[in-house]
Amino acid sequence: MNTAYVALGANLGDPAATVLAAFAALANLKESRVLHSSSLYRTAPIGITKQPEFINAVAQMETTLAPEALLDELLALEQRFGRIRGERNGPRTLDLDLLLYDNLELELPRLTLPHPRLHLRAFVLLPLAEISPDLRLAKRGTLAAWLPAVANQGIIRL
Ligand code: ADP
Ligand code: MG
Repeated sequence: MNTAYVALGANLGDPAATVLAAFAALANLKESRVLHSSSLYRTAPIGITKQPEFINAVAQMETTLAPEALLDELLALEQRFGRIRGERNGPRTLDLDLLLYDNLELELPRLTLPHPRLHLRAFVLLPLAEISPDLRLAKRGTLAAWLPAVANQGIIRL
């Protein structure tokens, strides 16, 4: 069994309903189960700021899927939720990112682990800290050490 963390984000339609439905879909992924689901967080958009606020959350999963197979399942779920790939950091029905997979460090064309921006984003760090406060990041130390750096990012736990 491997432990993986998945970030969920949505900002089109009814984003809270989408994230809850995505949690349910993750719970049904083959060879996998959801161990912990974070609260939902409302966050201000990063990059393109003229777009609706996001709803974000993180799931801790247990899986026997290999990292790339898990990524394929996540991308297929995005498609099922009607994602249309537009501008980077732009609006999306559902974004699913693989944050961590055990302590694996990977640099593949389509998969980087740990997720390269996870330690810079309040909407990832806060829900991660909620469900796994003692988590350590490969090469990047503790989660707690990164929290002060994102304290100025607008985020509300719902
Ligand atoms: P972003 O999530 O950065 O806004 P996308 O969701 O459009 O961008 O992802 C673009 C590509 O990033 C995906 O097709 C995927 O192959 C690649 N990628 C690389 N590393 C990861 C990761 N850890 N989790 C999810 N996608 C990843
Ligand atoms: Mg993504």
